[in-house]
Amino acid sequence: MDVYGIIGNPVSHSLSPPMHQAAFDELGINAAFVTFEADPDRIEEAFGGAEALGVSGLTVTLPFKGDALAFSEPDDRAKRVGAVNTIDFGERVRGYNYDLSGAMRALEHHDVDLEGASAVVVGAGGAARALAFGFEETGAKVAVANRTASRAHDLAEDVPGATGHGLDSLPDLMAEADVVANATSVGLESEESVAPADAWHADLVAFDAVYTPLETRFLRDAAAAGAETVDGAWMLLFQGVEAFETWTGREAPVETMNEALRAHL
Ligand code: NAP
Repeated sequence: MDVYGIIGNPVSHSLSPPMHQAAFDELGINAAFVTFEADPDRIEEAFGGAEALGVSGLTVTLPFKGDALAFSEPDDRAKRVGAVNTIDFGERVRGYNYDLSGAMRALEHHDVDLEGASAVVVGAGGAARALAFGFEETGAKVAVANRTASRAHDLAEDVPGATGHGLDSLPDLMAEADVVANATSVGLESEESVAPADAWHADLVAFDAVYTPLETRFLRDAAAAGAETVDGAWMLLFQGVEAFETWTGREAPVETMNEALRAHL
């Protein structure tokens, strides 16, 4: 039996095990997907131990995405973002950032055309980096807005053509934008939104990285103004789809994974 897992701390809340297990079972692949709650002081040993034990692949979550970059041979995207969220243990240990491609695939799934679009990323942490590079790669012009404006400027400097802003600029940025993505933790198990309700308009697409709850205040306010919404479970789903396809070389059963994921939300 092949063993795959998610490594993080904490990780017990993770929805990756049911999502991946459903995919393995659907395709009749003899594999188990487990959680590894690693000791942050022993993370190198943990990655090395997984490799030595013959673990086939890992999804990497907080706070180990930077450590995974150092441990693996990252592809160009992962290097650009500065984080690895998927490790494939083959003859070599490869690292990927499927937060980026998963988010873009989620938008594509909703027929959102990003070529020439104006995209606002709210936040400047790990998720924001993945989204900002993803939007830029997909042909959008990127504005980054963050509570700590200096972090928005730092991220914008790394992303070609991007601009950095404080949160006070968000209403003006939204007025001109096609897509607004929440990549902050605001709304996570709370009724708050990082975007003012009256800044939404019907020509916007709202994308939320937060997926607990699925229907955040950010998305509710957007929908009330007539904007299209894409919830955070789509990003989670498609990063899992990309990991599954890398690990197994098979086409992922997307519907099965989506159902398994949403059944646990
Ligand atoms: P992170 O690196 O810790 O960044 C957190 C961001 O949130 C920072 O920009 C921070 O601003 C901002 N923030 C925190 N509290 C705030 C507040 N009260 N008001 C305004 N801004 C605030 O976290 P991350 O890894 O990027 O994750 C961000 C969110 O994305 C989390 O909810 C995570 O669960 C979600 N996520 C989802 C997926 C998915 O697959 N759907 C994948 C990755 C992450 P400052 O810089 O000013 O502190």
